[in-house]
Amino acid sequence: MSFSNLGLSNEIIRAVTELGYTKPTPIQTQAIPAVLAGGDLLAGAQTGTGKTASFTLPLLHQLSSNNNVKSNPTGWMPIRALILTPTRELAAQIQENVHDYGKYLKLKSTVIFGGVSINPQKRQLKSGVDILVATPGRLLDHLQQGTVNLSRVEVLVLDEADRMLDMGFIRDIRRILAILPKQRQNLLFFATFSDKIKELAAGLLNRPTMIEVARRNVTADTIAQRAYQVDRDKKRHLLAHLIKQDDWYQVLVFTRTKYGADRLVKQLNEDRIQALAIHGNKSQGARTHALAKFKDGKLQVLVATDIAARGLDISELPHVVNFDLPNVPEDYVHRIGRTGRAGAKGEAVSLVCVDELHLLADIEKLIKQPLSLEVLAGFGINPDIKPEPIQNGRRQKPQPGGDQETAGATAKRKTTPRRSGYKAAKKSGDSSSASHYGKKRDR
Ligand code: AMP
Repeated sequence: MSFSNLGLSNEIIRAVTELGYTKPTPIQTQAIPAVLAGGDLLAGAQTGTGKTASFTLPLLHQLSSNNNVKSNPTGWMPIRALILTPTRELAAQIQENVHDYGKYLKLKSTVIFGGVSINPQKRQLKSGVDILVATPGRLLDHLQQGTVNLSRVEVLVLDEADRMLDMGFIRDIRRILAILPKQRQNLLFFATFSDKIKELAAGLLNRPTMIEVARRNVTADTIAQRAYQVDRDKKRHLLAHLIKQDDWYQVLVFTRTKYGADRLVKQLNEDRIQALAIHGNKSQGARTHALAKFKDGKLQVLVATDIAARGLDISELPHVVNFDLPNVPEDYVHRIGRTGRAGAKGEAVSLVCVDELHLLADIEKLIKQPLSLEVLAGFGINPDIKPEPIQNGRRQKPQPGGDQETAGATAKRKTTPRRSGYKAAKKSGDSSSASHYGKKRDR
């Protein structure tokens, strides 16, 4: 199968060929003809599968072959295709793709998201835009100010719809849907199917084509997964040790919280390891700067929360570290999927303390693969450190753990995961599936 067999215009094929795409990915082979046929689509695909091109290419084709929209001299030019996506980074990335794939077409596109001045966005929208990529919060701001015209939207794309729901965007999405013209094509993309997605799809889509491409196989040979058991207070030292000892570069480190990300950056800098953080409390400028430096290979370590890292396309990343294990086991799959892409070798390392053994068990269950815990020489476990007590389903603040090393921990050895924490946590109702995502809107 080639791109020309899919019915795309020569201008689009030229653009993707120049980008080095030789053949469509499985999601593209299935989604492109379905979208070109004009019907609704419900597609399950994760970042890294080529999903952005799977909706962008046919969308560009359709808009360019039916480009008879009259200008509207008295008001704001109407948007023809609206792409909603949960995070600023993802929005910027999609817009970049739209721009690249459409470089030989006469369509105009722009991106709007929160955290930056709204005025340049207004000027862009006023000048006329065919394809708008937006985060829901900022789009609503424009709608309230009357600076965007959605009265003639022909195609709506909800990208990473499951993440938008997790982030609490459902009300914003419903408000936006209510404004759109009834007659339109809807494309809904999700990474993980859930009842909430089912409900959204049922209310939104009209007899959709359903596609689900295989999940990335996290046990692929290209990703080596390692897990180290370590006392919670020694995690930062172990991370610094691994980075320095093995001379790691371009390391993406995940923490569970924004505070944890900032604290770790400070600690790594103290250890003379160059690191920056990206998370929701950082200004858009700081996030863009950190990401650009990291992508260019000028930053050794990028520390990120799950949401900030969502959808980041950083190719051929050699090292991903779970400094904290994620509460939601699916996030483990998303996180480590950042490495070992496109056949490149990658390593995913998890640092697991006694409080996280139950999370490890959940991950093992999901990936159907045991992750044996190693203890690294010099970072032995202090058996006196117990899991933090759980009250009302939440762990208490971290307690100062002992910094001692146990005897006999000087040699690297394998141990089996200790399940006591898992059972204790389950009994106390520490549901690891509880959503940990912030509800802050991306304005
Ligand atoms: P996505 O899943 O949309 O985030 O895409 C992941 C990466 O795959 C991006 O860097 C795209 O540029 C790249 N990509 C998308 N489609 C193809 C293709 N057909 N051949 C090669 N690379 C592709």
